[in-house]
Amino acid sequence: MSTYQCVTCGREVVYDGPLPVRYPFCSSRCQFVDLGKWLREQYTIERDLTPEEAGEPWPPRPPGEEPQRR
Ligand SMILES: [Zn+2]
Repeated sequence: MSTYQCVTCGREVVYDGPLPVRYPFCSSRCQFVDLGKWLREQYTIERDLTPEEAGEPWPPRPPGEEPQRR
């Protein structure tokens, strides 16, 4: 039996065996909170985010896959 602390809320998580898929979070909710925080910081550094862009599906389409025009 081992434990770790959730990096989002600090709650102690007890697990047995291999690390849980949610590590280092206690729940998928905390995972999304951290991801959202990280994304906001990234966008804030680069530029302002429009509502359309905020609704972009994840992951974003990698460059080079846009249809080519002749
Ligand atoms: Zn948590």
